[in-house]
Amino acid sequence: MPNSQKYDIIICGGGMAGLSLAYYISRSEILSQKEVLIIESEKKDKNDRTWGYWEKGPGEFDEILSGNWQKARINNHFNESQILELHPYSYKLLKGEHFYKYTQNAIAEKSNITWLNDRVNELMETRDGTRVITAHNGIFKADHIFDSIFRPEFDSPQNQNLIQHFKGYLIETKSDSFNPEIPDLMNFAISQNQGDCTFIYLMPFSKRKALVEYTIFSEKLLNKEEYDIHLKNYLNQSLKNTQYKILEEEFGVIPMSDAKINSNPNQDHFRIGTAGGYTNAATGYTFAKTQKSLKVIIENLEKGIKPLHVVGKSERRHEIYASVLLNVLIKKRYPAHFVFSELYRKNDSTTMFKFLDGETNFWQELKIMSSVRIKHFAKALFQVIFDN
Ligand SMILES: Cc1cc2nc3c(=O)[nH]c(=O)nc-3n(C[C@H](O)[C@H](O)[C@H](O)COP(=O)(O)OP(=O)(O)OC[C@H]3O[C@@H](n4cnc5c(N)ncnc54)[C@H](O)[C@@H]3O)c2cc1C
Repeated sequence: MPNSQKYDIIICGGGMAGLSLAYYISRSEILSQKEVLIIESEKKDKNDRTWGYWEKGPGEFDEILSGNWQKARINNHFNESQILELHPYSYKLLKGEHFYKYTQNAIAEKSNITWLNDRVNELMETRDGTRVITAHNGIFKADHIFDSIFRPEFDSPQNQNLIQHFKGYLIETKSDSFNPEIPDLMNFAISQNQGDCTFIYLMPFSKRKALVEYTIFSEKLLNKEEYDIHLKNYLNQSLKNTQYKILEEEFGVIPMSDAKINSNPNQDHFRIGTAGGYTNAATGYTFAKTQKSLKVIIENLEKGIKPLHVVGKSERRHEIYASVLLNVLIKKRYPAHFVFSELYRKNDSTTMFKFLDGETNFWQELKIMSSVRIKHFAKALFQVIFDN
């Protein structure tokens, strides 16, 4: 094998996780001596996604947010609204293009971090460590290789696998149509596609501008045009005769799976982001968990210990809850619109966010469990345990 160029740290993929990691390295005094290479095949200058996430108090990316709300709404299938007071959390919205620019600018200021526009063809495990083989710039090695390009298989029959798929429009209306104070996290007052979990996610930036997404948790994608039909139906019904213009479109698929991911396949090879299993299997949310896990990784790099986010007992418990919820949804044991609206009606949003972040204690979890129809969840738990 030809000679490899050596770095201290290589980051494969400069998307959300890769750029976040490079950004945190750029801010660390202790890591400023480390030579870092980030390899990304695209330019990352387009608004290819918008991240929504909840966070307690101020956060790392607050100055580039497009939305930051203290309240949110869950609307059940019968159009009964429940307003959630989010304090001490708020719900934040960050556009991809703003995130990419902000993190790329921070990295560009640091001479120890190099951005390489190239494709990684392979991460080859050799007896002498992992090699990063690129399409045009040869072979690289490093003490630590962070991999955000690996795409795990999420179709094993032993696992609970769903996909969250959605189409969104950023729209502008001719007259005032939205309440900019309150985003809709889940609005179930639409037809539930074949009993799948189907809802509208609406982020109002002003009285006339909003991101509106038609979202489904199911096993299969719809035909392309179906998303548009459903979205337009919803807009026609909710906006009545108000005219609107579509400014941008977004389509996304997020795997929701309890498949176990090997986040450390070799001593110098660490998977991060979706590749590292940072997606919450029950919700598809990935952004906040990535930030939390990467901060642990940075602390470990600074201490000179293995840069891994080790999954603790509490996180394992939460993984089981996510598997159970996935099983309830996949088997359609109880309509999804009831599951989510009951959870938010019977538990305050702080507890729910803590629960979804894997930060509740066992007693809080028991209370949450007692708020759902135990019969359906017990069957799901039985199957999850039995199948494993
Ligand atoms: C449309 C959309 C909306 C989403 N919205 C939310 C949300 O609201 N909240 C939330 O928490 N999560 C959301 N997610 C889920 C998750 O946060 C995102 O998918 C996130 O971008 C995952 O980060 P990542 O770094 O793992 O992957 P990516 O951001 O996809 O980064 C991987 C990078 O690797 C690059 N790459 C791939 N192959 C190669 C190669 N061979 N060589 C070099 N580079 C390569 C890609 O170009 C990409 O830039 C959304 C996902 C999508 C698709």
